[in-house]
Amino acid sequence: MTTSPHTELSILTVPAFNDNYLWLIHDGEHAAVVDPGDAAPVQAALAAHKLRLTSILLTHHHADHIGGVPALLREWDVPVFGPRNDGIELVTDKLGEGDRIRLPVLDLELEVIDVPGHTLGHIAYVARTPGVPWLFCGDTLFGAGCGRLFEGTPAQMADSLGKLGALPDETLVYCAHEYTMSNLKFAQAVEPDNAALAARAESDGALRAAGRPTIPSSVGVEKATNPFLRVTSARIVRSLVEAGRLAESAAPVEVFAALREWKNTF
Ligand code: ZN
Ligand code: FE
Repeated sequence: MTTSPHTELSILTVPAFNDNYLWLIHDGEHAAVVDPGDAAPVQAALAAHKLRLTSILLTHHHADHIGGVPALLREWDVPVFGPRNDGIELVTDKLGEGDRIRLPVLDLELEVIDVPGHTLGHIAYVARTPGVPWLFCGDTLFGAGCGRLFEGTPAQMADSLGKLGALPDETLVYCAHEYTMSNLKFAQAVEPDNAALAARAESDGALRAAGRPTIPSSVGVEKATNPFLRVTSARIVRSLVEAGRLAESAAPVEVFAALREWKNTF
């Protein structure tokens, strides 16, 4: 039996700026880039791995996610997939909740989920096949944290995170920033008795000490350790009440809002 290496897709991590990750989905020959905030590191990675760019995927309109698109389009004549409602003029294929796309050449199907909160038009992409699902969620869900609410309401962000938390536990989470260690400090402050969280702080701390990314994480790990996916945790609620940030009988969305606000100044 012969298997073509090019039917196997994998993902390259391309660090950019201080703490961004740009993702290259590739088959050994062709690549799609997710959120190219800067073109230079993408071009360098394409050259180093002898890849040709065949599509661009965007999650939201912030400069550190789209800034490299014009320079990439000068080199590569490729479609730009992105949110329908986030005001990005360079998008050629406008997407929203429930859309399915097939990436040219790579032959990868992606589902689109609306995840408003960080920005109002923010979208995420899920690849269900082959094998372990991949989630590209931009600045919505982070390792042990979530994006700031620049445009949306706490209710919108809580709902968006709920959709991501409903994905299969094994789904690999490819978010756009390495914020995990500072997020874990906050998570441990609000939920000090969470053993999974302590174990994660240890293992992710070792990764960072070795200069390695903590991303991707997985939906299962986030559900066990990320306070923004754990708003029904009695210990988290108690921490907020003790800090004078929440009334005893608060609804989950109020817990989320109080957590997000506390994290803003933590
Ligand atoms: Zn952003
Ligand atoms: Fe960002």
